[in-house]
Amino acid sequence: MKYALVTGGSRGIGRAICAKLASMGYFILINYRSDEDSARKTLELVRQSGNDGQLMKFDVGSIHEVEGALGAWQEKHKDEYVEVLINNAGIRKDALLIWMENQQWEDVIRTNLDGFFYTTRCLLKEMLIRKYGRIVNVVSLSGLKGLPGQMNYSAAKAGIIGATKALAQEVGKKNVTVNAVAPGYIRTDMTKDLDEKELKKNIPLNRFGLPEEVAETVCFLASEKASYITGEVISVNGGLYT
Ligand code: NAP
Repeated sequence: MKYALVTGGSRGIGRAICAKLASMGYFILINYRSDEDSARKTLELVRQSGNDGQLMKFDVGSIHEVEGALGAWQEKHKDEYVEVLINNAGIRKDALLIWMENQQWEDVIRTNLDGFFYTTRCLLKEMLIRKYGRIVNVVSLSGLKGLPGQMNYSAAKAGIIGATKALAQEVGKKNVTVNAVAPGYIRTDMTKDLDEKELKKNIPLNRFGLPEEVAETVCFLASEKASYITGEVISVNGGLYT
């Protein structure tokens, strides 16, 4: 059995990644924080793709929850390991810096950046021992370009981009690749408050993207086909200038 963990797999881009990885033959560990009904729907989709999975509830921003859940899984699966890790869980809490509250800064950094660190550190050791691993981090156009009103989110995603490049150099010799995918505007719960009609005027492909269009790139990087790509950031943004 080959295992993949997708953080934030209950909805949006994470759900599309779970379904695609299942169709590639993976058993999917579907992480979520609170929305169990949506996570169950993802599990149904995974099963429809011809494979199986399990729900894994934990807050990626809590070291205790991450180590508790993943440690318990490893304890039960002593001869197996998670060979694909998709760090996808993320939130945004937008405000101009001048008005930004400590909580908005801390929540966004904790979920996006700390979450990447805790989850990756937990699973990396087995990948290094087995000399095979794929880590794909879902970042954002906001982390490449910087977007006003998203200073916290831009900082978190830019932080993961730097970490992606550094970690790729640390673990390349052990055949573990680390890459990032930077979506532009994608139709999910995260963007449902945005004015697509107005914003799409700046997008050469003239529309928001679909979660499945991001999942294609993520899952390519997670596959054996991407064996000579590491430390890269690939944009999936309909041509938005970065
Ligand atoms: P979404 O529809 O809002 O889904 C977010 C997912 O993350 C949910 O599964 C949620 O779980 C999970 N999550 C949030 N906080 C978590 C935590 N502390 N621990 C564990 N899971 C947590 O978002 P999305 O649009 O699919 O975004 C997915 C990723 O793409 C994020 O990293 C986001 O920053 C990035 N991104 C999105 C866009 C876009 O336009 N949508 C653009 C660029 C980048 P629950 O269901 O339990 O709440």
